[in-house]
Amino acid sequence: MTTTSRPDGKVFIEGRYRKLTRDLPQTVFFCPDCKGHQRRRKKCSRCEGFGKLTRDSVQELVAWVLGAAFKTRKNKFHGAGREDIDVRMLGRGRPFVLELINPRVTDVDLAALEAEINRRNEGRMELEGLHWSEKGRVRILKETRHAKEYAALVEAEGELGEGAAAALIGKRITIEQLTPRRVAHRRAELVRERWIEVTGIEEAEGERRHVVRIRTEHGTYVKEAITGEGGSTRPSLSDLLEVPCVCVELDVLGILDEEGEPLPDRRAPAGFGDGV
Ligand SMILES: [Zn+2]
Repeated sequence: MTTTSRPDGKVFIEGRYRKLTRDLPQTVFFCPDCKGHQRRRKKCSRCEGFGKLTRDSVQELVAWVLGAAFKTRKNKFHGAGREDIDVRMLGRGRPFVLELINPRVTDVDLAALEAEINRRNEGRMELEGLHWSEKGRVRILKETRHAKEYAALVEAEGELGEGAAAALIGKRITIEQLTPRRVAHRRAELVRERWIEVTGIEEAEGERRHVVRIRTEHGTYVKEAITGEGGSTRPSLSDLLEVPCVCVELDVLGILDEEGEPLPDRRAPAGFGDGV
């Protein structure tokens, strides 16, 4: 049986995604020159007529399968924040809602579709906990403040300050961060006060390389918190470790609540006595 939805119908599907590669944007990466416009892109030299700068995105990998099942190509992807294209999203994944617009079918098996998406994208991207959601969740995902936990592969110019690393572990440190240069065109020039907390430093392969596990408050620019970007973040991890450091690779290990605790599992039914 198929269900016909109203012309203004929308369905909201929620889940978490993990991104296992460093070449996948969260949403469709339209060409900045032609914006993917049907006619203009034909003469566009930047994207050579493709309209996009990457082959696919988390949004497309999810929406191609869900869109085929729901029989609609129109969708919007709402993530609880986003990571840079070259940052992996690991751990339990990042919450998202896919809004499907004017679906012609709505009786679908979400568990089977999740398995299909995971089968097609093995090693690149995977979903967990796909379930029916509702419009109100989009605003909640967008407005909720999430601390994050990262693993950063950090390369130092020299030896880490003696005792500096050990003294850092487990301490919540307040930093002041000026808007980074790379986002200055779309963010107000402000000094933001944020907290960071280093939870582990381990030697990694390669000279003067360490894996630093770090939790950061919502809205922290973590790459700049590591390098200091010429003093625009104070103190930076480079300041605290007493040696200039660069971030070679970055993984998000967890999307946490505002205080830095793990998020509850949205699908878990409330137990007796949980209260409402
Ligand atoms: Zn173009």
